Amino acid sequence: NASEALRYAKDKLRHNYYFFNQDLGKAQVRRREIKATIEEALSDDGFEIFYQPQFITGTDKIFGMEALVRLKNNIAGPGEFIPVAEENMSIIKIDRVVTHKTIKQIGEWLEKGYNVPSVSINFSNLQLSDRGYPNYVFEKLSSYNIDPSYIVIEITESSFLTTSSATTDYFNQFTEGGIRLSIDDYGTGYSSLSYLNRLPFSCLKIDQSLIRTEPTKENLFMIEKIVEIAHSRHYKVVAEGVETSQQEEFLKSIGCDATQGFMRGKPMRAEDIEKILART
Ligand code: C2E
Ligand code: MG
Ligand code: MG
Ligand code: MG
Repeated sequence: NASEALRYAKDKLRHNYYFFNQDLGKAQVRRREIKATIEEALSDDGFEIFYQPQFITGTDKIFGMEALVRLKNNIAGPGEFIPVAEENMSIIKIDRVVTHKTIKQIGEWLEKGYNVPSVSINFSNLQLSDRGYPNYVFEKLSSYNIDPSYIVIEITESSFLTTSSATTDYFNQFTEGGIRLSIDDYGTGYSSLSYLNRLPFSCLKIDQSLIRTEPTKENLFMIEKIVEIAHSRHYKVVAEGVETSQQEEFLKSIGCDATQGFMRGKPMRAEDIEKILART
């Protein structure tokens, strides 16, 4: 009857509300835990850098590598802790740590006599408010006596969707000093072509979601066109998330310059990268 139905509905609501609240609570506790871990890691040398190799497509010749931050205690991966770090701007401090450690590492590899390719560092769009960052990079480079051509800064679309002249000036500081710029995660956002003209990029990275999508005619055609347009602008093209030899073969057939993916190399510690550097 009606009153029974009403009681049932109320109970159900109360029940759902309870679980809804519990989930919210859990997410909040987790965020607080990660925030505390980040603070600790910043004051206690709790970050380490993994490097993922990029290979000239279809070969085991190294093309470059990407620096990817990790928590030494491994409580969370960057996919989870970077967004939390962006909430309270500690990303700015983290990316200075990543930059410093990476440049120091390049110095150590060079000192050991390795032929070191360029190393990409990720740039969070929140770092645009870190006006001193470009200078910081150049200071670290000169203090370790490293040529700026070893560094590539990876920028995602969201950083230059609203390119004001201030943003352009910001990024131009890198290129004027000899640091190259790369477009990261291409194919996830608006993938507008117009902004490609606004900044002097030297490389474009095709996002893994595109690489791993179903290899339909349309999708393959789109990837082929991206490579074609990038090449017409003299950018190198790196495909991300390459996991199978079919993907690699296709990328080779359309002239994609390099691949970065689990198939040929996962992100790894500096000493494991040395085994790859030793081959060349
Ligand atoms: P990203 O810049 O697009 O980096 C590539 C991500 O794809 C890395 O995840 C890498 O491990 C993963 N990946 C590469 N190849 C494959 C593959 O074949 N299969 C699969 N499933 N994944 C692959 P990671 O290291 O977990 O980083 C995630 C994201 O976190 C990065 O995406 C980047 O946006 C951000 N991030 C990582 N390190 C830093 C950093 O030092 N600073 C900033 N600001 N962001 C960072
Ligand atoms: Mg990246
Ligand atoms: Mg990225
Ligand atoms: Mg990417």
